[in-house]
Amino acid sequence: MQHWGVGYGLWATAFSILNMHPLAPPLLSGSRRALARAITLAESTRPEHEQQAQALLAEVLPHAGNSLRVGLTGVPGVGKSTFIEALGLRLADAGHKVAVLAVDPSSPVSGGSIMGDKTRMPQLTVHPNAFIRPSPSSGSLGGVTRRTREAITLCEAAGYDVLLIETVGVGQSETQVAAMTDLFLLLTLPNAGDELQGIKRGIMELADLCVVNKADSDPAAANRAQSELNSALHLLTPRGARWQPRALQASALTGKGIAEVWDAAQEYRRTLGDALALRRQSQLLGWFDELLREAVWQRFLNAQNTDDLTARRREVQAGTLTPVQAVAALLGAAKSPTAGAGL
Ligand code: GDP
Repeated sequence: MQHWGVGYGLWATAFSILNMHPLAPPLLSGSRRALARAITLAESTRPEHEQQAQALLAEVLPHAGNSLRVGLTGVPGVGKSTFIEALGLRLADAGHKVAVLAVDPSSPVSGGSIMGDKTRMPQLTVHPNAFIRPSPSSGSLGGVTRRTREAITLCEAAGYDVLLIETVGVGQSETQVAAMTDLFLLLTLPNAGDELQGIKRGIMELADLCVVNKADSDPAAANRAQSELNSALHLLTPRGARWQPRALQASALTGKGIAEVWDAAQEYRRTLGDALALRRQSQLLGWFDELLREAVWQRFLNAQNTDDLTARRREVQAGTLTPVQAVAALLGAAKSPTAGAGL
C-alpha cells in the first residue's frame, strides 16, 4: 500500500509531464493493484475521474483485445461460481491469466446473489494468475454494462487472456453480456424438463454452448437433459452460420467435464476464426450506437420544456394526436441541435 502510494505519486508527476496517465505503465506491465485502481477510476461518476478514465482507456486500448471473452449465465444456484472457480483454476494453473467480472444490475431486486463477495471463489481469488472483480453494485443496466466493457479493456491491457463475465439469469443483462463477449455459455441443471420451460427462449438463442452442470448428482437425468437441450438448440437459428450451438455436461464440484467445456470453447474459437473479429467490430458499433442514442436523448431532454413533453404525451394517450405528430411537434419546438435530426 505504502509502497504503491509513493510510486503512484512519482509516476503521477513524471507522466503528467509526458501527458500519460500514471496508471498506464503499471497496468500494462500487469500489476493487479494498478488494474483494480484503473477499474475503480472507470467506475467513478465524478467528472474529473471520468475524463481521466477515458484518457487512460484510450492509451491502453491498442494493448487490449487479446483475450477470449466468455459470458456465463444461469439461474441462481445452478453452480456459476463453482463452475468459474473450477474452470478458472484449471486455466490459471495452466498459465493463463484469468479475469472474472460480473454484470448484475438487478442485485437490489433479486437479493444480490451474484458476486457479492469473493468467498464464492476462494481458491481462484488468491491465485496469482487470477483477478476477480465484483459487479459494480449500483446503477442502471446501461451504466453497469459500460463499466464492465471498460473493465474488459483494462483487464486485457493488463495481460488477462481469458475473461469470464458472469451474469445472473434474470432480466436483460444476458443480452448485454452476450453483446460484449465472444462466447456465451448457459449453465443449466439436470432436470431439463422443468429447466427448458424455465429458460427463456431468448436466452437459449444467445447461447453458443450449454452446459448441464451438477451431472454428478443424477447422471441419467443429465444425459436426458443434454440430449433434450441439443434437440432444442438444433431448432433455434444459430447466431452465426459457422457454429452450431451444442450442449455438454459437467460437474463443477468434481471437475468432470470441465476440460471438455474448455476444449469446446477452443474449437469454437478456431471455427469462428475471423468471424470473431467481425463480431467484436459489430459489438463495438452497436455499443457506439447505443451510447449515441442515449446521449442524443439526454440532450433532447435537457433542451426540452418538460411541460410540452407532458402535454404531448397526454395528447397521445388521449388519442387526440398521433405519436408521429407528437414527435414532429416536439422536435419542431425543441431548442437543441437534435431538432430536425430525424429522431
Ligand atoms: P450460483 O448461484 O449459480 O453461483 O451457484 P453456486 O456456485 O453458488 O452453487 C450453488 C450450490 O450448488 C453450491 O452448494 C455448490 O456447492 C453446488 N454445486 C455447484 N456445482 C455443483 C456440481 O457440479 N455438483 C453438485 N452436486 N453440486 C454443485
